[in-house]
Amino acid sequence: MSILNQLIDMIYPPRCPICHNMLAEGDYDNEELVRPFCRSCFETFQQIESPLCPICGRPHISGPAEDHLCENCLRNRPYYDRCASPYLYEGNLMEAIHEFKYMQKSHLAGSFGPLLASFASTHFTLQDNLLVMPVPLHPKRLRERGFNQSLLLARHVASRLGAQLDFLSLRRVRYTKPQTELSKDERQKNVKMAFGILDKQVVKGRSVLLVDDVATTGNTLNECARVLKKSGAQKVLCVTLARTSLSQS
Ligand SMILES: [Zn+2]
Ligand SMILES: [Zn+2]
Repeated sequence: MSILNQLIDMIYPPRCPICHNMLAEGDYDNEELVRPFCRSCFETFQQIESPLCPICGRPHISGPAEDHLCENCLRNRPYYDRCASPYLYEGNLMEAIHEFKYMQKSHLAGSFGPLLASFASTHFTLQDNLLVMPVPLHPKRLRERGFNQSLLLARHVASRLGAQLDFLSLRRVRYTKPQTELSKDERQKNVKMAFGILDKQVVKGRSVLLVDDVATTGNTLNECARVLKKSGAQKVLCVTLARTSLSQS
């Protein structure tokens, strides 16, 4: 650690972004930031484990112990090839993500970003021509919020993977209601035709890794994937920090 960083740590000791308690020695590693939360908060994050759906990544709450396709993916195969998330969207993590997005706490990207980047780097076998893309916000929503939380996360993911970051080609062309305000059926309609690609040549033949903060029904990611595939993307993978289980959506 540099002297400057040591000095900053003395004046502003690193705190857990959830409970605001000071981080103890060993809670974090300044070089790596593998676990930028205190141990007790971090241990409440519910890791998503098998059995899960190998396409949408949703954990099964009953049924066979091996990974198997969920009913949604069996009936309507998503346009994306695979989606994976390290944690369930609940408890402390859900509250922290909520603060990150809606309470202007963009600095939380400094904690969530490395966590997601480390998951992505161990979870996906990555191709050379990978393009990392955040799920875009409509310019109107971007003005309201001031930042795109998915882009803040995607920056960490792209830099960790050594992949190209592209946050301009995939665009939200229609202003839509927040998915959280809608029923399951309405959500699919709400995001239909909401996205567009600025220049198809950019994605043609490429593998794209879409980054978002949370996946609930997966409709937003699926609609982005549909547009990307239509524009010639060879493969579309998705990674989100958290996702809901089947019983939540
Ligand atoms: Zn804590
Ligand atoms: Zn599935």
